[in-house]
Formats: sequence, C-alpha cells, structure tokens
Amino acid sequence: MQDSLKDRSIIVTGSGRGIGEAMVRGLADAGARVVVADIQHDLAGKVADGINGAGGKAVALEVDVTSRESVRAMIAATVEKYGRLDVMFNNAGIAQVKPFLDITEDDWHKVMDVNGLGVLIGMQEAVRQMKSQGGGGKIVNTASIAGKQGYEPLAHYCASKFAVVALTQAAARAFGGDGICVNAICPGVVATDMWKLIDKGFKDEGLTSRDNEAFENFSSGILLGRPSHSDDLVGVSRFLASSASDYMTGQSLVVDGGMVLV
Ligand code: NAD
Repeated sequence: MQDSLKDRSIIVTGSGRGIGEAMVRGLADAGARVVVADIQHDLAGKVADGINGAGGKAVALEVDVTSRESVRAMIAATVEKYGRLDVMFNNAGIAQVKPFLDITEDDWHKVMDVNGLGVLIGMQEAVRQMKSQGGGGKIVNTASIAGKQGYEPLAHYCASKFAVVALTQAAARAFGGDGICVNAICPGVVATDMWKLIDKGFKDEGLTSRDNEAFENFSSGILLGRPSHSDDLVGVSRFLASSASDYMTGQSLVVDGGMVLV
C-alpha cells in the first residue's frame, strides 16, 4: 500500500489542523507529495514546514472550498508544482451544535456551503483535472457518522453530511467509466478543535475538547471505549488513496470505534 502512494500528488483540504492534518502527514510519511490546503494559510504553512523538515514533500496553499475560483487556483498550483493530481481529499468542514428549533437560515447556509457545496466544487474541479490527464484518480470525501444517522442537536450538520454521502455515490456512478474512484470516510467523535468551535457559532474561542458537553455526550457508548484521535483516520485515508482500494467506489466507510453499526 505504501509503495503505491510514493510520489502520488495529493491535495487534502482543511489540513491545517485536526483530521486533515493527520491525514496529510500520514500520506506524506508514506511517500506522497502533498498539498496542505486550508482557509487558514498560517496553519497550513506550519504543517507543510513540519512535513518538509521531516524529509517529506509538501506545499501549503490557501483555499476557500466554497469558492470555485479558489479551488481552481489550488488545483492549478498543484499541477504546476507536481505535474498532475492523483488524489483529492475533500475534508474541510465546519459544525455547529444548535437545538433543532433554533437553527436559522444563516446557520443552514453556512454549514451547507462549506460541507455540501465545498465538496461538490472540490469533486467537480478534481474530476475535470483527472479527465484532462486521461482519466484515473481517486477522490475521498470526509463525511461523518452524522451522514448515516440524524442527531439532535446537529440537524443541519447531519443534513450536510448526508449530502456528502449522496454526492459521493452520485459521482462514483458518473465517473466510474473514467476510472475515477470516489469514496467517503465517516469518522465518529474525533477530539479536534472542531469541538471547541461548534458551540460558539464557528468562532475560535477557548474551550478544550474535553470540557465540551456535546463532545462528552456523543462520546459515551463507543464500543472501543474512547473517542477517536485524528491519527485513527490515517490508515483508512492511506487505503482509499492507494491502489489497495482500486476496486472500491461509491462507498462511505465508517471509522468510529463502534458508534453506528450499519
Ligand atoms: P477542524 O475544525 O479541527 O479542522 C477543519 C479545518 O478546515 C480547519 O483547519 C479550517 O480552517 C478548515 N476550513 C474550514 N472552512 C474552510 C473553507 N471554507 N475552506 C478551506 N478550509 C476550511 O475540524 P476536524 O474535526 O478536523 O474536521 C475535519 C472534517 O472531519 C470535517 O469535514 C468534519 O465535518 C469531519 N468530521 C469531524 C468529526 C469530529 O468529531 N471532529 C467527526 C466526523 C466528521
């Protein structure tokens, strides 16, 4: 599996921290040439510096996944740097915890824009690039167990992650003939900064993950007895980026320590 990742050109959006950071580091450790893409360029720069300092190959790019122009520029810069795009991880996402009756139109649009539209644009532009290279390639979207079951108080987030699962299936059907595999990863409860933000209306304000009530509530009852670390998603991301998964498409793999048994 590691061999087939060597020198692959891979973009991971939202990889300035959290799950994306673990994925991009894990892919670089396996020999891939990676793009650390994030709306927070300073975070992306630090991650890329760390990878390059450890002997890997990384470049940091600023991207807003909700902007087609920005996503196109990211892919163009990747092709300029590495010559092609082999794998696109559409991982950037945001969350918000709110009781069902309190969700506003503004909340809905913010969450759906990044998590839904951002994944649609990322897939469209990656497919265009992959087709221009003669076909083949892999797309991996970060969905969630919230894309498998509806949870309160995360209704709009769940809707956006169901959308990711649906987009994954639709794109797999559309581009299988071009040799492009499209799959998704559904993490469970992962201890990242996202849990500091979701109760705070998307702003980066001080709670630690372990202080967060929603995090504690969602973490109870996990069969393997603990919430996930970001590193728990590295193996599945390597698998879906490598030739080991060449006969898989349209799937959404649950990696949640046993929260959702589907
Ligand atoms: P995080 O908040 O720690 O990291 C998300 C990253 O995405 C940040 O670096 C942020 O700057 C970036 N980002 C946000 N909006 C962006 C935009 N418009 N364009 C580009 N980058 C943008 O979150 P995380 O926990 O690492 O989540 C990563 C993905 O995993 C998300 O899609 C999330 O929904 C999903 N997920 C997380 C959990 C969890 O428990 N943390 C569980 C299931 C799924």
